Order: sequence, then structure tokens, then C-alpha cells
Amino acid sequence: MNNRFIMVLLSTFLSVLTLNSAQAKSDNFSTQQLTDVEQIKQQALTSDLAWDLVESLTTEVGPRMPGTPGDKAGVAWAVAKFNAMGFDKVWTEPATFPKWIRYSESAAVISPSPQKLHITALGNSISTPKEGIQAEVIEFQTLDELESAPESAAKGKIVFINYQMNRDRDGNGYGPAVQARSRGAVVAAQKGAVGYVMRSVSTAHHRFAHTGGSHYKEGVTKIVSSAISNADADQLHRLVALGEPVTININVQAQSMGEGTSYNVIGEFTGSEFPQEHVLIGGHLDSWDLGTGALDDGAGVAITMAAAKLAHSKGKTKRSIRVVLFAAEEFGLWGAKAYVKANEKNLKHIVAAAESDFGADKIWAIESNVDASALPVVRDIAKAMASLNVEHIGKNTARGGPDLIPFRPFNIPAFRLAQDGTDYFNYHHTADDTLDKIDPEKLRQNVATYAVFAYMAANAKTRILGK
Ligand SMILES: [Zn+2]
Repeated sequence: MNNRFIMVLLSTFLSVLTLNSAQAKSDNFSTQQLTDVEQIKQQALTSDLAWDLVESLTTEVGPRMPGTPGDKAGVAWAVAKFNAMGFDKVWTEPATFPKWIRYSESAAVISPSPQKLHITALGNSISTPKEGIQAEVIEFQTLDELESAPESAAKGKIVFINYQMNRDRDGNGYGPAVQARSRGAVVAAQKGAVGYVMRSVSTAHHRFAHTGGSHYKEGVTKIVSSAISNADADQLHRLVALGEPVTININVQAQSMGEGTSYNVIGEFTGSEFPQEHVLIGGHLDSWDLGTGALDDGAGVAITMAAAKLAHSKGKTKRSIRVVLFAAEEFGLWGAKAYVKANEKNLKHIVAAAESDFGADKIWAIESNVDASALPVVRDIAKAMASLNVEHIGKNTARGGPDLIPFRPFNIPAFRLAQDGTDYFNYHHTADDTLDKIDPEKLRQNVATYAVFAYMAANAKTRILGK
């Protein structure tokens, strides 16, 4: 056999393979579209586009805490990248938020056995006096236990909540654990405490402390709000268990600085038939200041930007594909809230929405939340993802990512492309959230899944409607 003959044979074999792996028939997609889907998927699985984006963002910009110069640089980066990638429309929309800055943080056991504690201030925390706040520790295992403690139970003391978060693929341990982060300092102050420290919202064993948002309440004394690493929490617990008073010092220097402004950055490939109707995918552009925001959420930014580009690689889709990079998510979904307010009249044109904000591990399932009329389209989309090892969860009760929470009252068709979050909370909101935690191969699987999703939702014969 000559080489030419072998090539012909090979390409015939490959095209038969491609057609077989594509769905043979569908009411919602043409054979050509199903072939396109297969090719987009293969292209995504060999593409370094998302890696290049997240590498660039975390290296050339770095941390992007709302209101900082890094955040501003992130916005400029996103506008430039969208333009360089050939998006048809690129624009920004402002979002305001309460600005907060961290200067320094440290802590130590003073007695009985002096030693350093690895601590971080929680977002929004007040400063301690310059010499820190020094007091005896009183330990509780849960926020509930603190809440049901008698009035003044913690008078003059530093409250320590030692709640251990559960590891879970879907991150279901986060919700219960985050209560102590969000409200712990308020409840501690109500019981007379002069300071608050918690075990990190974390599944890790390392000595990085995990930051995250916390709140104060009008009329309740503000006390320092902080978290120590899990290893330090174990140590503090052992010290308290010895039965002698344990005194620690917490020194946090931080500042609330009034209202800040940042920007949602939006890039769109305009559809050919129904340009108003659009698929909305995205992540959040901001990050905490301790790491470089690689997993949270540089990955989501890169995955969805790259997926939109690949979904558009066969020419214009019928409907538009819009990538929204939300601002100030970490301080309380401020970009998403601003987006919903500014685009309220156009939310009905969203045909499918999904946010990637759960790290960079593989997507293992797709779940929808759509009108029953759209379920056949969803099944076709899920079928096209099967070769990526993505299961179809048929409950049709997906909630979408955190930035889609403000969209919920508008009943948009929401999707969850569920990533494996087993290890996510080892790094989340720590100094250890850096690029090396991203596996390029897993990142490509995410891009392929999002590209299939965007292409198919944008091209389906019948548009997907919300419930
Ligand atoms: Zn996030």
C-alpha cells in the first residue's frame, strides 16, 4: 500500500468513527452540527488556550482583590484579551462594593507555651490596637454551641470556634462551615468576647489560613475577625484541652475604606439568527489577596473565555455567546448584583447560563434547571458530553454558580457543569491558591465541556426556556 492509500483509508475510518460517536440523529441538531460538536470537542482537548489565559492572568496581573490596583489591572487584562481573541463586542459595566484592605496579620500563643499561630484576617475585619489584642481563649466546637452559651459566657475572652469542615465532591461541607466565618464575630461579641478566631473553612492539613468574607451587625461591638490554619487549630485545641488558661495575642491591621468601584467585563460573539438571545457563561475576575486566584477563579475565567472562542470556531452560532467576568464576587456578589440590575430587561433573552467557580478539577456531571420543553435539548447536550465522562443528573433542579444567585428570581435556564470539588477547599482563599494547583489536562476537559455546552445551547433548533 502506498502512503496516499493509507491516508485515505485512515481518514475514512476516522470520519466513520466521528459520525458514530456523534449522535446519529437529533430533532434539535443537524448532522453537520453534531459533527461540528465532535470537532470542537477534539480541538478543545488539545488546546492550550485556557492554560495560556490563566497563566497570563495569575502571572502578569496576580492577586485581584476588589478595589486594589491588581483588580484594576485584571479589568484591563480582560478587556485586552477579549479584544485580542476576536470577540465581536467587548464592554465593561460598573459595580460598587464596600472596600476593605488588609495590611498585616499575626498571632501567637503567649502562655502556657509561647509559639506562633498562622492566622489571616477575615474580610471586613477591623484592626486590633497596634500591640494586638491579648486574652484568654474560650473554645466552642460549633457556632450553635456558642449561640446557646449563656450571656457573657465569653466576657473578656477570645472566642475560638473549632468546627471542622467536611470534605465532599460537591462542596456540600462549605455551607455549614461558612456560617462561623460569616457571623462568628457578631455572635462572639454578643457573648462579651474581645476577639474572634476560627478554624479555617478548609479540608487541608497544611498551615495556610483561609480568608473569606465576614460581617458585622449594626449595634453589636465590632471585634477582630480571623481564622487560623487547621494545623494551628488542632494545636490550640490541644492546648485548651490541657485545662490551664491559654492566652493568645492577635494582631490584625486592616481597614474599611468606604465605597469602591470595579467593573464586570463582558465579551460576546454575536449570533447570526437571534443575536439578542444568548448563552451566558463566565466566572469572577476578582480574587482574594493572599494567593494569585488561580483556582478561585482564574480557572473559571480562562475556561469560559476559551470555551466561547472554540464554540465560535465553526463560524457564527445562531444565538450569541456571552462571557461575563463578574466583579467583586468575594466581597458579596457585587458584580453579579450590578449585572442583574443593569440588564434586568434582557435577562429573558438568556437561553442557558452556567458559571465556572469551583476550581479546575474535571467536570463529572451536567444538571439543568429548565422548562420541560427543553429537556430533549438538554439530553442531546448531555449525550455529546458523555465521551468526556460527564454524567447527566436528571433532577432538573440545578442552581448554577454563586454569581447566578442574583439571577434566580428571573427564572433563567440555569445549568451546573459540576466539577469535582474534593480537593478544592484545600486551597480556596489561601496563599496556596496558585497556578501549579491547576492540571492542564483537567483544564482542557473543562473547556471541552463548556464549549460543547455553549455551541449546542446557542444552536439548538428550539430555544431553551427557563422554568
Ligand atoms: Zn470563587
